[in-house]
Amino acid sequence: MSAIQLSVVIPVYNEEQGLQALFDRLYPALDKLDISYEVIFVNDGSRDRSAAILREQFQKRPDVTRVVLFNGNYGQHMAIMAGFEHSKGARVVTLDADLQNPPEDTHLLLAKMDEGHDYVGSIRRQRNDSWWRHVASRAMNGLREKITRIKMTDQGCMFRAYDRNIINAVNSCQEVNTFIPALAYSFAKNPAEVVVGHEERAAGESKYSLYSLIRLNFDLMTSFSLVPLQLFSMLGMLISLGSGAFFVFLVIRRLIIGPEAEGLFTLFALMFFLIGIALFGIGLLGEYIGRIYQQVRHRPRYLIEAVLEKTEEKPKRTRKPKAATATPADLFVGGEE
Ligand code: UDP
Ligand code: MG
Repeated sequence: MSAIQLSVVIPVYNEEQGLQALFDRLYPALDKLDISYEVIFVNDGSRDRSAAILREQFQKRPDVTRVVLFNGNYGQHMAIMAGFEHSKGARVVTLDADLQNPPEDTHLLLAKMDEGHDYVGSIRRQRNDSWWRHVASRAMNGLREKITRIKMTDQGCMFRAYDRNIINAVNSCQEVNTFIPALAYSFAKNPAEVVVGHEERAAGESKYSLYSLIRLNFDLMTSFSLVPLQLFSMLGMLISLGSGAFFVFLVIRRLIIGPEAEGLFTLFALMFFLIGIALFGIGLLGEYIGRIYQQVRHRPRYLIEAVLEKTEEKPKRTRKPKAATATPADLFVGGEE
């Protein structure tokens, strides 16, 4: 069907310091694979020189490079979504722009796909991130494993390969807040994992603050499972039962021992605890409602300012005779939406 065998999708947000190093390693690594490939960079509204650097790179390798430029920052997962929509390859590999995923390991993913897997995740051999990310990540991994049916050893690693069928399925979803590896996993027939290298960020710093990491984990839990809500209603039932029993105890105590006047602060502690639980429940409900709200508005998920890509080698001139006159198979810079 498609002549391109591999599309590599790379989200880019304020990566000016590291992009050149990425190009220097990525292109030779892909050339070595000896397959037809394309690299799709999605600039996620960088405020530094990233977009300009990507434009330059497109001029240097227009044959294998495609650049999608967002008009603002929509987040890593939306950037990957846009990359998917512009990809043509029979397989798609996603990669971070900061060289934390060694591009030389791409062949490991592809070799695993050759064994018949349509989704190949990855496990970082030795993770090189700050210690608190290790700890938090492990905890969230465990929690996710319990409440969603998604089995990923290392959810944080974006270095993954997907078959065209899965990409098409993901493209057909119009999810607003999503977590691509999990979404793709839910469509996979025969997923697998391989161990890949992981390096320290080559340049610049992590684009994820604690806040956005927490948001991302909410996306992962609430977009893929109703278990948090169900657990919460069960907790509510348990607490009601407990309170009921306590009430009966107090009535009997009153009849046998008489009225009690003390224990005011115990009452406070109990109240605060219960109010805390109630607030948490409202917040949790809010997470779902917020998601529904964003989803039903049907706003565009991202706006594309421009797409830099080479035009098709042979423009079809079936119907419009115009095409025959002035379309040099040259570089094409097109806008969209
Ligand atoms: N990224 C993005 N948009 C964002 C944040 C990050 O496109 O809003 C890109 C970033 O340029 C990088 C990848 O997503 O290519 C992973 O980001 P980062 O390395 O900061 O995350 P970490 O490795 O710390 O999890
Ligand atoms: Mg990184």
